[in-house]
Amino acid sequence: MGKPTGFLEVKRQGMPYRDAATRSHDWDEIALLSTKHALQSQASRCMDCAVPFCQNGSVLAGMTTGCPVYNLIPEWNDLVYRGQWREAYQRLSLTNPFPEFTGRVCPAPCEAGCVAGLVDTPVTIKDIERAIIDRAFEEGWVTPVPPTARSGRRVAVIGSGPAGLAAASVLNRHGHTVTVFERADRLGGLLTYGIPKSKLPQPVVDRRLQVLRDEGVQFQGGVDVGRDVSITDLGQQYDAVLLCCGATVPRDVSVPGRDLGGVHFAMEYLTGNTKSLLDSGLRNGQYISAAGRDVVVIGGGDTAVDCITTALRQDCRSLVQFDIYPQRPDQRAPDNPWPQYPVIHKLEPGQREAQVRFQRDPRAFSTSAVAFLGDASNRVSQVHSVMLDAQRQALPGTERLWDAQLVLLAIGFQGPEPVLFQGLGIDHDVRAGAQDTGVDRYRTAVDGVFVAGDARRGQSLIVWAIQEGKEAAQACHRYLTQRHKSANA
Ligand SMILES: Cc1cc2nc3c(=O)[nH]c(=O)nc-3n(C[C@H](O)[C@H](O)[C@H](O)COP(=O)(O)OP(=O)(O)OC[C@H]3O[C@@H](n4cnc5c(N)ncnc54)[C@H](O)[C@@H]3O)c2cc1C
Ligand code: SF4
Repeated sequence: MGKPTGFLEVKRQGMPYRDAATRSHDWDEIALLSTKHALQSQASRCMDCAVPFCQNGSVLAGMTTGCPVYNLIPEWNDLVYRGQWREAYQRLSLTNPFPEFTGRVCPAPCEAGCVAGLVDTPVTIKDIERAIIDRAFEEGWVTPVPPTARSGRRVAVIGSGPAGLAAASVLNRHGHTVTVFERADRLGGLLTYGIPKSKLPQPVVDRRLQVLRDEGVQFQGGVDVGRDVSITDLGQQYDAVLLCCGATVPRDVSVPGRDLGGVHFAMEYLTGNTKSLLDSGLRNGQYISAAGRDVVVIGGGDTAVDCITTALRQDCRSLVQFDIYPQRPDQRAPDNPWPQYPVIHKLEPGQREAQVRFQRDPRAFSTSAVAFLGDASNRVSQVHSVMLDAQRQALPGTERLWDAQLVLLAIGFQGPEPVLFQGLGIDHDVRAGAQDTGVDRYRTAVDGVFVAGDARRGQSLIVWAIQEGKEAAQACHRYLTQRHKSANA
């Protein structure tokens, strides 16, 4: 695999990014593509390690390591190294239906488990994945694969995020007639309305949706199941139903001043901005604006960084991100050994942009908001914070006031909305309600109803949503096949 001595001869070189000062003023994709030669050279670093931890996704110490879709990474690294790009694409598409999404925004837990990372730096697996699929689209190798025959059975998939799209793709290829219901006006779930377009451009999402349409998947956008059509009616009209409706209920803070104007959930902010951007290039003004405002983002994860990315492009006056955790170490701590996901200090591209714009890291570590203060018109004007000790207790004398006319809450999600589960009589806590039988762990307690993605496992990663969609589709296919056999027995 690769070149056995490649990792000794070639240094890791990640994908280049556009200049941080320039890119933070536009919505074009921030990552550039390395040259073919550079990518082949990086693929040569794959070291024939014999036990490739990179390709086997699992959860260690509560974090993902290895690839959840079981990408055959050493195999396609070897093919890229040898310049056999089309064959590399064929290997990649055996496991990952949407590498153009993961190759752009996956946090690459594969690289956490890369054996080269144990002695040196990991192979740039994610970059190579993106390069393979981008090349495949450019060369016209990605073509629709419609089923050769139809089974006569119909499946309703609710939600068009990565879980719903992966499930629809697999079920359609099995010959079932699939309709995906999506309440938003555009398809794609968080691929479209969560992740900023500078990280995942909309044409990249739309071209995959077109492939799925050309394969025969049907989409009904703007249909809120549970409101526009009842879930029980869908259950009667379709042979099976797959719930891929995400985990959209946000976590809230309960501090004085929470109800002030100008305090918003991150998704309200991000979705509104993206919709306006896609509808009108932001000309219609139908979004919450950070322009000229001091912005406080509360939360330490991806969603918080996406708020930073967006606020910068809207031309905020200042920006700070509260993270309740202390700054992570620069190297793995002794209790965070390989192949666990490395918990180390990183500067995400959005944070780098903020650092360049304001000449400082936007993060305030070990910091928690204790109150939002308002002005005469009941709009937020300041955030009162305190620093925390290792036990997350307030440290006396660390109170501070920050000017803020916009506060964005990005502290995670509680789980799926209850409406569909309640409509089906399933326990609201979907994980408690779903049967985990080992083989068909995506089946719910209701016959013919399956659940996958964030709706099942809680807010997670695109790559997990894809894998869950694939596996739930297989469970659904087995159910449909067995039911058909019993009916004909
Ligand atoms: C802001 C943000 C940034 C993120 N960034 C990353 C990242 O960079 N990398 C990464 O790997 N992960 C990221 N994630 C996580 C990732 O996006 C999710 O784990 C993934 O999208 C889950 O896929 P899903 O298909 O289960 O759900 P979703 O993508 O949430 O899709 C669910 C869909 O169901 C629809 N729906 C819900 N209820 C109904 C209904 N009643 N009727 C019809 N339709 C309905 C919703 O409108 C939505 O379109 C991010 C998450 C957020 C919030
Ligand atoms: S999907 Fe994610 S974990 Fe898997 S190879 Fe790609 S970047 Fe790595």
